[in-house]
Amino acid sequence: MTTEFDRTPGGAIIMNGNALRDETVIRLRSEIQAMGLGMPTVCLATVLVGDDKPSQIYVRMKHKKAAEAGMTSKHVGLPPTATQAEVEDAVRALAADPTVHGILVQIPLPAHLNTEAVLDLVPADKDVDGLTEASMGRLMRGRPGHVPCTPKGVLRLLERYSIATAGMRAVVIGRSSLVGLPLAVLLARKGIDATVTLAHSRTNDLAAVCREADIVVGAAGIAGLITAEFVKPGATVIDVGVSRTESGIVGDVDFDSVQSVAGAITPMPGGTGPMTIACLLENTLEAARMLGALPLATALPEGR
Ligand code: NAP
Repeated sequence: MTTEFDRTPGGAIIMNGNALRDETVIRLRSEIQAMGLGMPTVCLATVLVGDDKPSQIYVRMKHKKAAEAGMTSKHVGLPPTATQAEVEDAVRALAADPTVHGILVQIPLPAHLNTEAVLDLVPADKDVDGLTEASMGRLMRGRPGHVPCTPKGVLRLLERYSIATAGMRAVVIGRSSLVGLPLAVLLARKGIDATVTLAHSRTNDLAAVCREADIVVGAAGIAGLITAEFVKPGATVIDVGVSRTESGIVGDVDFDSVQSVAGAITPMPGGTGPMTIACLLENTLEAARMLGALPLATALPEGR
């Protein structure tokens, strides 16, 4: 990417997640290659239960990008009728397999399965999705561990586009343990230093709350929730939401109106989605290092 960033017709910088993902994949590939022949291969394993089409597409994309990054991958596909014991056995086998460094259980799991019990079987060092109780505990305590991929991808975009965070006000809309909550914690961490408001469906006058912010992140899953009236001129607006509508995939941000007010904005698609995959691969390489399969990297800056 050049430093001359592309802009929307209204002048906002376009935070291009596809380009940053591709850059990340190339970097990871060269890091792996630089370790030379004879090194154990970095391996990502995925578990998918059922035949949900979007989940199948996500998982295929993860394998494709892992291969581009010079990693191997394994896939365990189970039928929608798989029992709790069958799913747990599959995860246990991957947890015990020394050739597997990262494990990703594609969620949501079918409703008859106990997701928490399945996630509990993923060892924290292999939890490249950063979603287990142990990883969340490490995140809260500021200990080394895997950070959930979508929040990490948002941080990477902020970093890449030199968006100031220290002392800035950030509003994260959505408080799930998958996206909003960990992102709020990360943005508030020492080294990133934003002042964070975590908004949700009970927040009064959401537009006014967002208008106070230098950085607004939409992670509610409500199509077009964030309009121009939510945005302070020049603010950075990041769209995590994904809603499937008759007119295609739509984010939480009403891009057309917001781009004329924002200073920087993610496109949808092509913003946070690709960065989620990039960060999954970053976490997988880091997992191989944590498991002692590869030399340790230079430590990432705190919280990143
Ligand atoms: P979730 O578990 O359904 O959580 C949604 C959150 O949004 C909840 O905290 C909810 O508040 C809040 N919310 C709902 N309606 C709202 C409204 N009108 N105003 C303010 N807040 C509202 O969803 P999730 O798993 O966090 O995912 C959020 C979105 O991100 C989804 O569209 C998902 O598809 C997408 N996603 C994208 C990526 C990516 O890579 N781009 C990755 C993961 C998820 P309450 O807590 O009060 O109910």
